[in-house]
Amino acid sequence: MKAMRLHAAHAPLREETVAEPRPAPGEVLIKVSACGVCRTDLHLVDGELPQCSSPVTPGHEIVGTVVRSGSAQGRWKEGSRVGVPWLAWTCGECLDCRAGRENLCPRARFTGCHVDGGYAEYTIADERFCLALPERYGDEQAAPLLCAGLIGYRSYLKAGDAKNLGIYGFGAAAHILAQVAHAEGRSVFAFTRSNDLEGQRFARSFGAQWAGGSDESPPEPLDAAIVFAPVGALVVAALKSVRKGGAVICGGIHMSDIPSFPYDLLWGERRIESVANLTREDGERFLELAGKIPIRIETTLLPLARANEALAALREGKLSGAAVLRP
Ligand SMILES: [Zn+2]
Ligand SMILES: [Zn+2]
Repeated sequence: MKAMRLHAAHAPLREETVAEPRPAPGEVLIKVSACGVCRTDLHLVDGELPQCSSPVTPGHEIVGTVVRSGSAQGRWKEGSRVGVPWLAWTCGECLDCRAGRENLCPRARFTGCHVDGGYAEYTIADERFCLALPERYGDEQAAPLLCAGLIGYRSYLKAGDAKNLGIYGFGAAAHILAQVAHAEGRSVFAFTRSNDLEGQRFARSFGAQWAGGSDESPPEPLDAAIVFAPVGALVVAALKSVRKGGAVICGGIHMSDIPSFPYDLLWGERRIESVANLTREDGERFLELAGKIPIRIETTLLPLARANEALAALREGKLSGAAVLRP
C-alpha cells in the first residue's frame, strides 16, 4: 500500500510502498477514505514531539471502513464506517486511567505518533478506541471532527459556562467550536493575526459576534478564552481580556514560551489551564453532539501524495478550515 512517512524531523514526508498492516486480535484493519491534517502533524515534522516513533506514518483524524477484524467476535462489523482519533491505546490500570483521565495515562499511545496513522491507504487501530461517526457528515467533513473538533470540545468544556468566549487562532478547531458555542447561546469573540481581515471575515461567517486582531481588546470582557494558536504571547494577551474568575485554556500540544507577565494579570482568581489529548468519553460525547448540531465544516481536499503541500499551507496560514487527504 501507499503511505506518506516521516523519517527525520525537518525533512519532507516520503511517499513509499509498504506492506499492508495485519490486525492483531482486538484490532481492526481500516481502509482509509479521508485523513485530516492537524497542527500536531506539523509539530511532529518539526521535531517538537520527540516522544513519537521514527519512522512513522502521521495522521490522527482518520475516517475509513473496517475491512477485517483481528478477532473472531470483533466490536465492528466488516464495512462499518469508523473514526480513529489521536488516542490509540491506554493501559487501563494506572491512577489516571482508573480516575477517568485516560488522556493523561503515562503509557498512552497516540495515533500517527507511537503507532502509524492515516496518511496511508490502510491503517490498523485498537477496536476499543475507534469511534462511531454521525451519519450527517461525509468522510471528508467528518475527518476534522476527530481532532480539531474533539480537542476544541474538550477545551470548551474547560471554559465552563462562559457566556463571552474568546478564541485565539481561528483555524480548523475554532471554526467547528465557534458553531457549537453559538448554537449553545454563547457569544464568540475571535482573534486572528493582526490585519488578517480575510481570517476575521471567515470567523464572523462561522458565528463569531466580533473578530479582530490578537493585539486588540474585545468590545466586552471575556469570561474565558481558548488559545489554539501555538504562540505563548497569546496567553498573556488572553489574560488581559479575561475578567476576574475567568480562565485561559491552552488547546495545543505545543506552544512557544509564554513571556513573563505581571502577577496582576493573573490575580483575581484567573487561571491558566492546558488541554492534553482526549478521552474516549470526550469523543463519544462530542460526536453525539455533532450529530445533533448541523456543523458546517470547511475543508480543502488533496490527494494523499500531496501531504507535504497540505502541511506547508497549514504552516503558512493559507488554509481556511481544515486540509483533508484522500488516498
Ligand atoms: Zn493508564
Ligand atoms: Zn490533532
